[in-house]
Amino acid sequence: MFTAFIRVRRYEPSGDRNRILQNHTLPNMFKKALFTILTLLLLVPVSLQAKRNIETLIVTGQNNHNWQISHKALDLILSNSGMFSVDIALSPASGEDMSSFRPDFNKYDLVILDYNGDAWPQETKDAFLHFVQHGGGLVIYHAADNAFADWDEFNRIIALGGWGGRTKESGPYCYFEAGHLVLNDHLEGPSGNHGRQCAYPVYCQSEKHPIVKGLPDKWMHGRDELYDSMRGPANIKELLYTGRADIMMGGSGREEPLVFTVDYGKSRIFHIMLGHAGDSLEKNPAMQCAGFQTLLLRGCEWAAKGRVTQKVPKDFPTEYQSSYRLDYKQPKKLPDKQPKK
Ligand code: ZN
Repeated sequence: MFTAFIRVRRYEPSGDRNRILQNHTLPNMFKKALFTILTLLLLVPVSLQAKRNIETLIVTGQNNHNWQISHKALDLILSNSGMFSVDIALSPASGEDMSSFRPDFNKYDLVILDYNGDAWPQETKDAFLHFVQHGGGLVIYHAADNAFADWDEFNRIIALGGWGGRTKESGPYCYFEAGHLVLNDHLEGPSGNHGRQCAYPVYCQSEKHPIVKGLPDKWMHGRDELYDSMRGPANIKELLYTGRADIMMGGSGREEPLVFTVDYGKSRIFHIMLGHAGDSLEKNPAMQCAGFQTLLLRGCEWAAKGRVTQKVPKDFPTEYQSSYRLDYKQPKKLPDKQPKK
């Protein structure tokens, strides 16, 4: 019931942009009944509401990536898990008036940024900072770390960014070498690069963090980009996964930080560079990867709640074999064809 209410106040993805759907699809009687039930729910002791879904807002609408696919895939992954109620905040199109784009971040437990576009109005920036700095969980997904290169506070929130005109002034190159993050490479040069897409192994660099606890030290990620040469304040709190950017594929040749949390006051910020969107929901291997979906769900729960209750799924990729969830759902049973152990 609660989920149904949430769904009708999502932003309209296909109609007028930046407009919240009103409950116009619901008959008046039903609306009144729903209002009464929700009022009663508010009176239920907090202990009984403890298992409510995590209220989540995906911010999208402008990106040099296929945001029309990525935000739907993110929504499917989260909604299908049964743990999240998802709304979409859809910005005006690039070049349009942004002044009315004012998502109410504070209504949510969790915000996922799938946005790389025009600057937000000052009120929206202020509201976003207030959300992040006052207990709201944040997930930076893939090209969201390309956004807002000249917004200093945003760069501290993402720790590392790429493209968007970032230079030496944005911070050092940050990569992983001999078991440590290198944070003192202040060479001149642009920020942001990736080689040709391929499946590649990722390496866990943290055994204890709740997001990665129980996951293999090494697993084969589905076909994706691998971001390298990222720059920024590099205020990484806990490095979770790295990947080697193969020089033969056009990468840096270095081991790159790909998944981490950010050291930003008491905020819980999960940054995942994986998940380049494909041409369609059906052809979207980076986001259909069971490993990506598992990390995303765990990172989202941790950012919102500070803990992870999810078990390691049985279809998780192995050291040498990727594993895909074509329908963005964790299978109830293992598929017949099992990855090689
Ligand atoms: Zn990409």
